[in-house]
Amino acid sequence: MRNLSPHAGRAARLERRIMPGRLSILIYHRVLSAPDPLQPDIPDAALFRRHMCWLRRLYRVLPFAEALALLARGRLPGRAVAITFDDGYRDNYEVALGILLELNLSATFFISSGFLDGGRMWNDTVIETVRRLPESELSFEPCDIRELPLRSIEQRREAIHQLVSELKYRPLAQRQKLCETLAARLDETLPGLMMSREQVRGLHQAGMEIGAHTVHHPILKQLAPAAARAEIEQSKHALEAILGEPVRLFAYPNGKAGQDFGPEHAAMVAELGFEAAVTTDCGTADAGTNPYHLPRFTPWDRQPWWYVARLAWQRGVGKESLFDIRRSRI
Ligand SMILES: [Zn+2]
Repeated sequence: MRNLSPHAGRAARLERRIMPGRLSILIYHRVLSAPDPLQPDIPDAALFRRHMCWLRRLYRVLPFAEALALLARGRLPGRAVAITFDDGYRDNYEVALGILLELNLSATFFISSGFLDGGRMWNDTVIETVRRLPESELSFEPCDIRELPLRSIEQRREAIHQLVSELKYRPLAQRQKLCETLAARLDETLPGLMMSREQVRGLHQAGMEIGAHTVHHPILKQLAPAAARAEIEQSKHALEAILGEPVRLFAYPNGKAGQDFGPEHAAMVAELGFEAAVTTDCGTADAGTNPYHLPRFTPWDRQPWWYVARLAWQRGVGKESLFDIRRSRI
């Protein structure tokens, strides 16, 4: 394979030797058709394709449900990886799917059902509004934001960061209202970014797995128990109606245990018939991991060495060993 560092191969082989039986579950959200200077951390199609090529070359990418079944039976092969996507962005269907199919890789897509057919997540309302605002200064009193300059890309990125940080943990209805107030400063209607029902069905028909991710992507901890349960249950039912078959996997919105969801929500997920649930707590799973508390992590690196080293490090390979490889002592 072109451009694959020999160090990356050595790191992956070392990881298999010393740390078998662990499942890395990777999180992606969007795959852009072209790079976006406002969102430099989001992979575009070319980088995503490179990630998938490195995985295919060095790891064993398994369908998530199959990996979980093997994990439970203690039969997970070495270097096992599962690929997941959160939220339900249209580019998952339009950009990522073709790359996955071309490379014969399987992924699981966790979808917030309330944004299907032309919807938009609240954070994208912030991003797309700030992208379109004129070069004047931005003040937004409800978030205590005053006179932020918007002259450069960096300044717009900083404005987005401040707005998202201020809004993220507001109550769901308030957060939505504030985003609408911000977007109303534009003369135009913002585009929808999420998949259609037909595209969700298309992903599934192409062999990809579909999981639930609530209806409106709330922070579950901020909801009353009945409302949290309804968010989880209704997303399951909505997706099952689209697919015509049971939805067995769930991803907690925002996903940090203790901060965004608690054991009461894991119990709801189990009671509602899900077989497993994923978090955004960093780490890898082994046979002893609670199936309703499966850790994941986001690989963002642009060079194969760093990408593979990050996977190996998450799986328990010590930094010292990785530096030895880098210095070619292994
Ligand atoms: Zn999400």
